[in-house]
Amino acid sequence: MAWFQKAKKSLSPKERSQVPDGLWIKCENCGEIIFRRELQKNHSVCQKCRFHFRIGSREYIELLIDEGSFREFNADLKSVDPLKFKDTKRYTERIQKAVKATGINDAIRTGVGLMNGRKIILGVMDFAFFGGSVGSVVGEKITQAAKRAKEGEYPFILVCASGGMRMQEGMFSLMQMAKTSCALADYSEKNLPFITLLTHPTTGGTTASFAMLGDIIVAEPGALIGFAGPRVIKQTIGQDLPPGFQRAEFLLQRGFIDFIEDRSKMKETLSKVLSNLCD
Ligand SMILES: [Zn+2]
Repeated sequence: MAWFQKAKKSLSPKERSQVPDGLWIKCENCGEIIFRRELQKNHSVCQKCRFHFRIGSREYIELLIDEGSFREFNADLKSVDPLKFKDTKRYTERIQKAVKATGINDAIRTGVGLMNGRKIILGVMDFAFFGGSVGSVVGEKITQAAKRAKEGEYPFILVCASGGMRMQEGMFSLMQMAKTSCALADYSEKNLPFITLLTHPTTGGTTASFAMLGDIIVAEPGALIGFAGPRVIKQTIGQDLPPGFQRAEFLLQRGFIDFIEDRSKMKETLSKVLSNLCD
């Protein structure tokens, strides 16, 4: 058989699922095999089913902030180990590992930057660092960011991605819920908008504090948003949960959030919201 007559060998679904990580990535929702570079170009959203892959704080800042305009606050702030906590490993060891793996010192970046030319204060949580858990550093950074937003009279946008409070800091972690809520109440005196953007997942004490305090609460499609997880609730009440429970679409229907927006339109939409509220 001449080479041009050879049928093109297409990969069976089984073979496709075995494509190694690296160049290609499989959509967690629809199973589509996507060229990783294409996915990145598309803000890590599957073009076939609109599934939103999780992205890091750096990518989210690039998505929302005009190029080169972001100035980070308190980037050097690092956790101490107030309880000398140790489970299978020391807390200090876990922190060191997370810093090395992510290149950031804790689970949030905060700073000031321009969004379509408008100066805003932005905080972006990073799930890759300790599951986006909130300890003293995250609480302090949100508090400092709220103070700067108040002083400069800037809108404040906070992108959430969090498994909840950081148990390794015990009560020091839990008190961040009250501390950040106080800072945001103080900021609200200026009558400036505080917008929270809930990404997958936003759970635990994060939902029970600053994530739900937004004047406007936006979510990404499909994001899991809740306090206790569905498994815990199911075990507690002994009943099956309705389909889509705790997903952004479910919460929108019940008035917990204001709207859902696709990541690719997020910057434009948030800019419009701010124009309506601030100009
Ligand atoms: Zn997909």
